[in-house]
Amino acid sequence: MDTRNASLPGVVVDIRHKDYRSGLRTLEALHFRAGPGEFVALIGPSGSGKTTLLKIVAGLDTRFEGQVARSPTARLGFMFQEPRLLPWLTVEQNVGLVLNALPPTQQGALRAHLQELLTQVGLQDFRTAFPGQLSGGMQRRLALVRAFVIRPELLLMDEPFLSLDEPTAEQLRRQLLVLWQQTGSTILFVTHNLREALMLADRVLFLSPRPAHLILEQPVPSPRPRTMAQMAVLEQQLLHQYPELLSGVLHE
Ligand code: ADP
Ligand code: MG
Repeated sequence: MDTRNASLPGVVVDIRHKDYRSGLRTLEALHFRAGPGEFVALIGPSGSGKTTLLKIVAGLDTRFEGQVARSPTARLGFMFQEPRLLPWLTVEQNVGLVLNALPPTQQGALRAHLQELLTQVGLQDFRTAFPGQLSGGMQRRLALVRAFVIRPELLLMDEPFLSLDEPTAEQLRRQLLVLWQQTGSTILFVTHNLREALMLADRVLFLSPRPAHLILEQPVPSPRPRTMAQMAVLEQQLLHQYPELLSGVLHE
């Protein structure tokens, strides 16, 4: 089922350069676009400027030369490396918090959506539990629900499945794909894991070491559902074709 909504806006990134006040140039001549409903993965060495880029796209950092075009009214979601749950709030309250920030007219329908999403990811019996009572995988599922509950037009994900065991990460990837297909969000997904990027994305963008710019744009034409084994083959082909592609990425 593909319910992507073509009327949702994408994002166009045109960054001439980004310098921190220390003088450190983190991004230079970084240009790309993500179409409406497109899933774009970004892969690059540690310290290359990926988090900086997502902050700029989110509008949290406006000190750069260039432009980022996205609908100013688009609902924006962000998911980080750590689940960033509030330990004194219940599962339901942690997600409810992001709805409180929306206009009251939108909140009613989304509260029902919240309950559906909790059920969808298997957290229906943990509504009144606290984050400390959940496993690491369950905390990430909760963070996924929180990211999707607002039906984000644009979702920025900064290495959200880092340092999880592979079965847990794999389950989260599947749930992410289902949520994305239901919602039609445009997604920018930062990862160090090429196989993960190939598994998830419509297109993988490879970034250079700092200052980050694009070194390769690789569409992933394989139909979904994809398997990690298929992606391992694709990964080998890519690395064979471009041996220097991941220099700096794999040696974390
Ligand atoms: P990545 O997410 O790719 O690992 P970051 O975007 O976090 O990289 O950082 C890129 C570079 O910018 C790094 O060298 C980092 O130390 C530097 N940096 C990040 N944030 C700041 C800041 N607020 N001030 C100065 N330098 C920063
Ligand atoms: Mg980062």
